[in-house]
Amino acid sequence: MVYLPALHGYHGALSFGPGVKTTSRKSGVVRSGSRRRQGNLTMTSATLLDGKTRSAELAASITAGAAALLRDHNIKPGLAVVLIGADPASQVYVRNKARMAESCGFHSLQHTFAADTPQKEVLSLIDALNGDPAIHGILVQLPLPDHLDEQQVTQHIAPEKDVDGFHFQNIGKLAAGDTEHTFVPCTPAGCMLMIEDQHGKDLSGLRAVVIGRSNIVGKPMASLLLKANATVTICHSRTSDLPAVARTADILVAAVGRAEMVRGDWIKSGATVIDVGINRTEVIVNGETRSRLVGDVNFEEVSKVAGAITPVPGGVGPMTIIMLMSNTLKSARAIAAARQV
Ligand code: NDP
Repeated sequence: MVYLPALHGYHGALSFGPGVKTTSRKSGVVRSGSRRRQGNLTMTSATLLDGKTRSAELAASITAGAAALLRDHNIKPGLAVVLIGADPASQVYVRNKARMAESCGFHSLQHTFAADTPQKEVLSLIDALNGDPAIHGILVQLPLPDHLDEQQVTQHIAPEKDVDGFHFQNIGKLAAGDTEHTFVPCTPAGCMLMIEDQHGKDLSGLRAVVIGRSNIVGKPMASLLLKANATVTICHSRTSDLPAVARTADILVAAVGRAEMVRGDWIKSGATVIDVGINRTEVIVNGETRSRLVGDVNFEEVSKVAGAITPVPGGVGPMTIIMLMSNTLKSARAIAAARQV
């Protein structure tokens, strides 16, 4: 088995200098925060952490990395995305991932199964992809139809091709603080980059609160923050007085799945707020019902108090997709490195 060499940190194939600030990168796109006093209150206009702009910068670096790998080692990073069923949101995610892979110069494969496909058939496709030398990353789009065993499917992917970072072997390494020899799940990896842009790589002395304890977002997010020396609290549906805990946060990550749950008075003045949530809600515009995406954070209220905030859409979402590309390039580079030893 080829294993990941110690080439990269949790940014997958990407590496950045400490403390890079996005705020000064693209004037007009990323809004710098400002503060003003009104009576006894300090009003803040938060810095907008623009995931679209940031991910476009990262895409350029990944595209260059893929081109160099092809030139120097004749390896084209290959990503296989597996979709089971016809969930409209999953179809959009899968299409976006495939498009991004192609635009980065990757070999991109998509397998689409009917919703009633038996587990055995899914596992045998994964076996084939595990053994395919043209494929360096395998992603099975979640959620799966109810009759499929999600754990069995995700654990069937070879750990060295598990670019989603859901295999227990990769989860264990991350929990142990070894971000170099694992694939960090894409959403927390993207969140962490945006946090670093604001605070640098060393979060010593800062308090971080993560709302949500899923294996996909909340727990790996907490592991990354802890590794960066933040003092971390994880909250969930059984946490008492959540607003009071949230108010202690210099860095607040909301990964809950409850539309606009986090309110302005939950936020410490100047905090960095990362909104992972994607919730579809309905709004009435000119008498018509329209569908709208909102996060777990009430943007209007929170942006008046926070120091920096991610928008929804256009914040964490684009960063998640680009970190998938980063992990796939990391996997392909590992193959190149293994050939050289
Ligand atoms: P899960 O449903 O797996 O986890 C949600 C977590 O929120 C659970 O830990 C749950 O607690 C907690 N929670 C639920 N209700 C409350 C509450 N009222 N108070 C406090 N905690 C609560 O969701 P995911 O982690 O998979 O996703 C979270 C959100 O992020 C979703 O909106 C999802 O769509 C979005 N998402 C966005 C991505 C992106 O690329 N932007 C990628 C992945 C997810 P408990 O454990 O006690 O049940």
